Amino acid sequence: GMPAARPRPIADRRPTRQLQVGNVAVGGDAPVSVQSMTTTVTSDINATLQQIAELTASGCQIVRVAVPTTDDAEALPIIARKSQIPVIADIHFQPKYVFAAIEAGCAAVRVNPGNIKKFDDQVGAIARAAGDAGVPIRIGVNAGSLDQRLLAKHGKATPEALCESALWECSLFEEHGFRDIKISVKHHDPVVMVQAYRLLAQRCDYPLHLGVTEAGPAFQGTIKSAAAFGALLSEGIGDTIRVSLSAPPADEVKVGIQILESLGLRERGLEIVSCPSCGRAQVDVYQLADEVTAGLEGMDVPLRVAVMGCVVNGPGEARDADLGVASGNGKGQIFVKGEVIKTVPESKIVETLIEEATRLAEDMTDA
Ligand code: SF4
Repeated sequence: GMPAARPRPIADRRPTRQLQVGNVAVGGDAPVSVQSMTTTVTSDINATLQQIAELTASGCQIVRVAVPTTDDAEALPIIARKSQIPVIADIHFQPKYVFAAIEAGCAAVRVNPGNIKKFDDQVGAIARAAGDAGVPIRIGVNAGSLDQRLLAKHGKATPEALCESALWECSLFEEHGFRDIKISVKHHDPVVMVQAYRLLAQRCDYPLHLGVTEAGPAFQGTIKSAAAFGALLSEGIGDTIRVSLSAPPADEVKVGIQILESLGLRERGLEIVSCPSCGRAQVDVYQLADEVTAGLEGMDVPLRVAVMGCVVNGPGEARDADLGVASGNGKGQIFVKGEVIKTVPESKIVETLIEEATRLAEDMTDA
């Protein structure tokens, strides 16, 4: 078969410690992983496992579940056992659920020190339990729930305050010899968030979980996350990512994967290269691109398919693609590897592209 397309990563990764979240390595030379969080009531075990299955199918590698109540904590053993991907328990307020999650076989635990009263007193016991079980801890600092002491010191959730809060909690774990830590410092403002992660990257070698929190509805949240993650990942900062959207979690995963692919940090699957259309277009490019995208959905091979609106620039623009079409005069010139292989009527463009894509995909997967 063909050798896999090699991504050109946007930057060398910053060296970090590596830890294991279940079977997913995070940090070090491990690929940047994509995670998300369920929106179901965790104690509704069937609904939660169903959503985890959907997330797994969309490419999610690690899933987090909220544990606000005893019922949720009691659901963790079954969820952790039946989930296809590692489960992280997300704990605010109640240290006892940290112990329950470790006991339940969760792959990791996220704690928000700003939301756990007397958290500092519990760190020793948490470090022991997590260390014995080989469970990493994410210290998840959030601008909205910053430790009161740091809020008082800095006046608001500045990059310095977020970073200081995270490193303070790390130091408490370090006192107990526990270093299986990853860190997040989330803020809704990408600029503050980027600065906070840059500070962390200078001051520690823990793997970093990137996130813009409360990023907003899908369109805005996608852009905020892409801009912020792009800035950081282009400096080699970031070991695992979570896109937060006010949208179904599988959408977060799709966005996360696209961001990594765009930055060359993950091998591309199918890529549609379509022109923006212009006054020269002789076909409805948007509709054609949508139909081709829908027709090729689920084809999991690194194939670049060009959809071009005219024959003026189309052939040239299609040359780099594996497969393409340049439309004009009610017809479509079909390109494979830069050569015109046939011309078909406009009504046959989509089915011809799908046929050719399927053939190319078979060639690629032939051993
Ligand atoms: Fe315009 Fe043709 Fe270029 Fe599309 S391929 S943007 S229609 S010139």
